[in-house]
Amino acid sequence: MSTAAAVRGTRSAAEDQNQPLLEVQGLHLEFPTYWGVTRALNGVDLALRRGEIAGLVGESGCGKSVTAMAVMRLLPEGHYRVPQGRILFRGEDLLARDEQGMQRIRGQHISMIFQEPMTSLNPTIRVGRQIAEVIQSHQDVTRSAATARAADLLREMRIPDAERVAGLYPHELSGGMRQRSMIAMALSCEPDLLIADEPTTALDVTVQAQVLALLKQKCVERRTAVLLITHDLGVVANVCRQVAVMYAGNVVETGPVDEVLASPRHPYTAALLETIPERFHRDERLRVIPGSVPSLLHPPPGCRFHPRCAAAAPRCARERPPVFWSTSVCAGGDRHGAACWLLEDRDGNCGWEECSP
Ligand code: SF4
Repeated sequence: MSTAAAVRGTRSAAEDQNQPLLEVQGLHLEFPTYWGVTRALNGVDLALRRGEIAGLVGESGCGKSVTAMAVMRLLPEGHYRVPQGRILFRGEDLLARDEQGMQRIRGQHISMIFQEPMTSLNPTIRVGRQIAEVIQSHQDVTRSAATARAADLLREMRIPDAERVAGLYPHELSGGMRQRSMIAMALSCEPDLLIADEPTTALDVTVQAQVLALLKQKCVERRTAVLLITHDLGVVANVCRQVAVMYAGNVVETGPVDEVLASPRHPYTAALLETIPERFHRDERLRVIPGSVPSLLHPPPGCRFHPRCAAAAPRCARERPPVFWSTSVCAGGDRHGAACWLLEDRDGNCGWEECSP
């Protein structure tokens, strides 16, 4: 992923496979409030190719979900502003679409899975019927064909006795089964892009691993690009090929997962890695990042991480760092980038440069 490259791709053979499927360019997003303007996104850049799975990580309040909701255009109209930036999907700016146009994109081309399926599934409609309705709303198929397809999808999600489960109401399913049903619904129209916002956070660890493995397998089979939003770098390490780390409305580090996790270049990424429980011996105390994510009503000047950064210099509080890119290209052709003054290449040979990726 970049503060420019996370996930890139396309559907038809005629389209260039290296062109981004989704490209968020310099996105600024604000919420005017009674107390002032909350600057939720501060120039976010992301890119995602077809078939790639990228993680968007960071603490709560860093702007991950707002980014996802902006892509889906699910933020309440009239309650936010986009002073700058574009959200290109297959080259078209989604911000220029009206609501009717977005309805044609949602579900059919871009789907979303939320953390708590009960907020997305209608409790009064049987699960199979709900999936069938999504299929019928985007495809010209009969009710019986859509119903059969819904049962097939539940079976693909490894739900045993799928026909019976299709006839149940959401509250009659376990958390794992509900989340699998949500994935089945999200994939029912073969979207190009799936945005999964903390899709397994509410599940226990074993079910979480099963659901994530299934999600990955199904998306790889269909060449569906996935933007996986999570606060858990362990999940990203297991599922994603690319990662972008967000802090206080900015993407602060991006690149191939192996490279970023092995050699984090932004102090925030390094601090997040320190908080992964699996990295500690059980006698050690779990580490936390001191302080908290700043209010985006009055964000700190310069580097927004500077009040919490052990490496902060006076300049960090004055000037916002640009993204510096590694001069070497990682496996797969992507580059590692981070927005930190520590990477400024004063003598031209430290291996990082301020330029386009
Ligand atoms: Fe820390 Fe400065 Fe780098 Fe920000 S720019 S992460 S404050 S060293």
